[in-house]
Amino acid sequence: MAQHHSSLRDLPSITTLLDTQPLRSAAAEYGLQAATTAARVAVENLRQQILSNERGAEIPAAEELASRIAAEVTLRESNALKPVINATGILLHTGLGRAPLAENAVQAAAEAAAGYCNVELDLQSGQRTTRSQTVTGLLQELTGAEAAHVVNNNAAATALALAALASGREVIVSHGELIEIGGGFRLPDVIETFGARLRPVGTTNKTRVSDYERAISDQTGALLVVHPSNYAITGFTQSPPLEELARLAARHQIPLVHDIGSGALIDFQQFGCRSEPVAGESIAAGADMVLFSGDKLLGGPQAGIIIGRHTWMEPIHTHPLNRTMRVDKITLAALRETLKLYRTPAQALEEIPLLRMLSTPIEKLRSRGDQIVQQLHGQIDGWEIASRADEAFVGGGSTAQQAIPSWCAAITTAEVNVGQVAQQMRIGTPSVVPRVQQDELILNLHGVFSSQLQSVVDTVLRSYRLLCGSSN
Ligand SMILES: *Cc1c(COP(=O)(O)O)cnc(C)c1O
Repeated sequence: MAQHHSSLRDLPSITTLLDTQPLRSAAAEYGLQAATTAARVAVENLRQQILSNERGAEIPAAEELASRIAAEVTLRESNALKPVINATGILLHTGLGRAPLAENAVQAAAEAAAGYCNVELDLQSGQRTTRSQTVTGLLQELTGAEAAHVVNNNAAATALALAALASGREVIVSHGELIEIGGGFRLPDVIETFGARLRPVGTTNKTRVSDYERAISDQTGALLVVHPSNYAITGFTQSPPLEELARLAARHQIPLVHDIGSGALIDFQQFGCRSEPVAGESIAAGADMVLFSGDKLLGGPQAGIIIGRHTWMEPIHTHPLNRTMRVDKITLAALRETLKLYRTPAQALEEIPLLRMLSTPIEKLRSRGDQIVQQLHGQIDGWEIASRADEAFVGGGSTAQQAIPSWCAAITTAEVNVGQVAQQMRIGTPSVVPRVQQDELILNLHGVFSSQLQSVVDTVLRSYRLLCGSSN
């Protein structure tokens, strides 16, 4: 008991801690409140340790405790949401926020954010209107669909479509398409969660129209076709053409829902990528409803886009879940400006960052790699850096396995672990996220904007000085 008291009495006060050098600089850098909160939490943790540990806990000296707290504050602040330079070679990196926005989309989003906008008001009549109205016309124009609706992401679009069309009924899906998208979003569970029943048909590799046909009954709510975006079934495979399924669905007056995932509005084979379903083609083939993401191949903000026939879209608009998935004005503003660029495909290729990156000739990437190596020449003794060919991936669950020819600057060194170098690059400002592959640190140039090259060079230099500077 006595020991408890003496230990508690040894705890430094918050004031004492804040007056130490490490916490004074932490407060200067990140604000007094961040430093104070961290100090309170640390002291409280020690107090709890002392109280629960009969032999008494070791109390570090105030200065030492303060530097530990300061290190924690720094670590936490370095994890704050901030811009990073994507040198991973994965262009649609979900961990890095997927598609960067076009300049006009950024401006529109900023304007929407800074003030008021007519997100749900018809300016002609002065009446309340539906939220997606500012983008539905464009989506119809670009895809040929009769109607359109926008929610938070494609997972929400899938959930809403199932709930609105098939609640209490069966959803017929091929065994080969019962996918897990990630983060616990498994199609069979989603179907159950939103009140529908899964009716799997066919086999993993082969499913025929007749399999769907045999499963149709008065219990059927929808036929669902899901594009295999993050996996591939190869070998002896078969799945029916969408046109045939559309005819089958129409004959039975059941909606055919097509989850195309990545949401290409143009043909991606022009970039040397595998063919990806194009939203408008799916509508033309007869799908009643097509679902896709806004921040994958479309190159816009995070959103889930639902397009389709009036009759089947009506229950979507009026479903109570709709409100829980509502997009905000900032997203709508960015989406509208992104879609507008597709009216002139050449302009889309020029201004939508994802499309611009994909259409950058490899010689250009190569000369950027050469430039980085040249600038670092003679400044990073003991580190080898080479400009060489590499592979990039579109990513984001689209054309997942397919590599596209790319270029990088690759660093190897015997002086430090390249994993440590990568960490230094990530936690600094500007933050650069490279790829570590075997014993190499790869700075892939496909996702690095030309305006960011100097920052990449500076980041390599900064990391070098921090890790190897004193010994050279
Ligand atoms: C990516 C993807 C989803 C999920 O989309 P989010 O916008 O990430 O919610 C759903 N279905 C398919 C086929 C996908 O590729």
